[in-house]
Amino acid sequence: MLKLLITGADGRMGKTLIAALNDFPDCRLVAAVTEAGSAHLEQDAGLVAGCAEAGVSITADLDRAAKTADIIVDFTVPEVTVRTTELCVQQGLPLVTGTTGLNKAQQKTLAKAAGQTAIVQAPNFSPGVYWMEVLIRQIATLNADAPELLDVEIFEVHHRQKIDAPSGTALHLGQVAADALGRDFDKNAPLNHQAAQGAKAKEAIGFACTRSGDAVGEHKITFAVPGESLHITHQAFSRHAFARGALQAAVWVSRQKSGLYGMRDVMTG
Ligand code: NAD
Repeated sequence: MLKLLITGADGRMGKTLIAALNDFPDCRLVAAVTEAGSAHLEQDAGLVAGCAEAGVSITADLDRAAKTADIIVDFTVPEVTVRTTELCVQQGLPLVTGTTGLNKAQQKTLAKAAGQTAIVQAPNFSPGVYWMEVLIRQIATLNADAPELLDVEIFEVHHRQKIDAPSGTALHLGQVAADALGRDFDKNAPLNHQAAQGAKAKEAIGFACTRSGDAVGEHKITFAVPGESLHITHQAFSRHAFARGALQAAVWVSRQKSGLYGMRDVMTG
């Protein structure tokens, strides 16, 4: 039995993870953590998630909660993810994190921690987005003789509460495309090119973001050449796709040595 601590337990993803645990009989919720000011402190995590009583009270005491767990699953905000990562190293716990919007220094902390514990980090835990990555690499292979001719654009739509833009998934897809096409992502991905004046630079990878209502998440990548274009779209209809993927990653990483893994490792491992 894998004993899980979920951070952000009363957030959109935290509640969906708790609901999705029904499909993972070998996993059990033992601790649920949120921020100190939350209205859900001391409430039952299952009931807060709209499910049956879980027998686990939501707490703000991460350090204490971690003593009861085998693994931490984290969908929160970057500062909490960093603190949780450091705690995982201290306690020797593996970590699954889906938090997006980490800056370079925060990302560095995770990379360093992965030298001492096993971490799965993915901006999108849905299998469909992994399939999209596979297709991007295949398209690059099919155009290996002239990859510079492919014009790449990435579009994403999310709910209006989302903090970061472009989404972590959009940036990840852009990175996958850049790597596959032999382009330097940092040089070729002007994240605000919609606001820039003038023609799109050769080999630039463009991003467009929409924040609208309660949209769960949509990502589209377009490959254009003169005279035609191909669009690949992934739509998440509910957060269950992410939650099931994250729990699958938790089961997988609980058996791994230290290292920084992604959904590609989980899906192919
Ligand atoms: P949310 O705002 O609904 O939930 C955030 C949770 O973090 C809440 O429980 C909140 O109380 C907690 N939190 C915030 N500040 C805290 C603090 N200082 N201390 C302790 N807890 C704190 O957000 P969400 O929609 O659940 O998304 C969370 C993160 O997961 C975001 O970064 C989002 O982009 C990402 N996300 C990733 C995937 C994926 O598949 N990787 C899917 C959906 C969302």
